[in-house]
Amino acid sequence: MSPLRVAVVGSGPAGFYAAGALLSADVPVQVDMFERLPTPWGLVRLGVAPDHPKLKTVSKAFERIAERPGFRFLGNVKVGRDVSPEDLARLFDAVVYAVGAQTDRRLGIPGEDLPGSWPATEFVAWYNGHPDYQGLHFDLNVERAIVIGVGNVALDVARMLALTPEELGPTDTADAAIAAIGGASIKEIVVVGRRGPAQAAFTTPELAELGDLAGADVIVDAADLEGAESTDTNSERNLEVLREFATRKPSGKPKRVVLKFFRSPVAILGEGRVESVELVRNVLDEDHRAVPTEELSMLSCGLVFRSVGYRGVALPGVPFDERAGVIANEGGRVAPGVYAAGWIKRGPTGVIGTNKKDATETVELLLEDLRDAPRKGATADDVDALLDERGVPRVVYDGWLAIDEAERSAGDPLGRPRVKLCTWDALLAAAEGLHSAT
Ligand code: NAP
Repeated sequence: MSPLRVAVVGSGPAGFYAAGALLSADVPVQVDMFERLPTPWGLVRLGVAPDHPKLKTVSKAFERIAERPGFRFLGNVKVGRDVSPEDLARLFDAVVYAVGAQTDRRLGIPGEDLPGSWPATEFVAWYNGHPDYQGLHFDLNVERAIVIGVGNVALDVARMLALTPEELGPTDTADAAIAAIGGASIKEIVVVGRRGPAQAAFTTPELAELGDLAGADVIVDAADLEGAESTDTNSERNLEVLREFATRKPSGKPKRVVLKFFRSPVAILGEGRVESVELVRNVLDEDHRAVPTEELSMLSCGLVFRSVGYRGVALPGVPFDERAGVIANEGGRVAPGVYAAGWIKRGPTGVIGTNKKDATETVELLLEDLRDAPRKGATADDVDALLDERGVPRVVYDGWLAIDEAERSAGDPLGRPRVKLCTWDALLAAAEGLHSAT
C-alpha cells in the first residue's frame, strides 16, 4: 500500500512528537509539517526562558525526527490563510493539529487593558525574539512590577525581570530585551497567588532558582505559610523551599522578588496607564478554592504581567470546545482523519515531555482508524503545486538550517548559544542564504 500521508500542523513539541510517532509506525508514513513561522520548535524556541538552555536541548530530538525519510518541514505556511483545513483534508489521509494555545486567559477585571498591563505571554514572546512581538514597547523604567499568577510562566517572567546583565549576557534572549531588562529601574517584582502556597502551580526547581539570583533577594512572608498543608509531592517540596525563603533576611541585593499568596486582583488602576493594583484577601474553602473576604489593599506599580494561563484559539472549520479552549476531541481523535495533539488537545498544562505521551496516544488512534484505509492518493507534488499556485513561499528544513547556522555563528564569538534573528525579513533572508553572519 502507498504511504499514509499525514499533515501535522504546528512544529512545537506536540507536533514533533506526533511526527516521530508517525514515522515509527508499522506502515510507511509521510509527514508534511506545516508551521506559520519560518522557524520550528514552537515554545522550545519562543517560550522556554532563555536562561534555561538545558530545557531547550530537547530540540536535538526534534532535529533527529526532522532528518528521517518521509519528513518535510513547510515553514512560513499558515493554515487558515495559505491553506485551509479543507485543503488539508483533500491532500492528506489525516491531519494532526498541534497548534498549541496561542493566546492568554483573561482576568476579566477593570483596568486589565490599561497601558502597562500586559499578558505575560506577550512579554515571553518578546524576550524570546518572536518576530510578531518585536514592535511591543515594554517600559521597564518603573519601581515595581506585579505578576499575577503563581505558575511557572509567572516565575519565568519574575526571574527574567530580575536577571543581571551578566546573567542575561550569555543567553539567547533577544538583544532588545537584554538592553531593556539590563537598563531597567525595577526594584521590586511582586508575584501574587490567589490561593495559598500549597496550591501554587509552579514546580520546585523553578521556585528554588529564585533563591539563587545574583541581583535579587527573594522575600516570603512567614505568615502566608502558617497552617499550609501540602496536597502532593510538588506542593510538599514547594513548601519546604518557601519556608526556607521565609527565614532569609534580605541581603541588600539591588532587586527583590516578593511572593505573596491569598490575594486576587480586583482592579488595575491608573490615569492613562497602570499605577496600582487593588487586591482582595482570600481564604480557602474546603475544596481549596479562593473565596474573597472584605479585606482590600492597594499595591502601587508601573507594570502588571497577567500570567494566569494560555488559551487555545479555534481554527475555522475545526470543531472547538469554547469552554475548555481546545479542539473538541476524545483522546486526540476529532473525527476519523482529523486529530489533535498537545495543548490544543488537552489544554495548556504539563511540561515539554508530557507532549510525548499525549502525541503518541493521538497517533495510536490515527493508525487504528487509517492503517488499512484506502489512501487518498495525493502526493507531496500536489501540495507543492497548490502552494505554488497560491504564491506561498515556504521555508523548508534546509532554510531553517540556514537560519540556525546564521544565528549560531553570530552567537559563537560572543559566547552565546545564538543571536536570534527577530524580524520576518531577517529570518526569511537567512532562510534564503542571504543573511550574513557578521
Ligand atoms: P499554570 O501552571 O496553569 O498557572 C496559572 C496560574 O494562574 C495558577 O497559579 C492559577 O491559580 C493562576 N490563575 C488562574 N486564573 C487566575 C485568576 N483569575 N486570578 C488569579 N490567578 C489565576 O500556567 P502557566 O504558568 O501559564 O504555565 C503553563 C504550563 O507550562 C504549565 O504546565 C507550566 O508548568 C508549564 N511551564 C513549565 C516551565 C518549566 O518547566 N520551567 C516553564 C513555563 C511553563 P489557580 O491554581 O488558583 O487556578
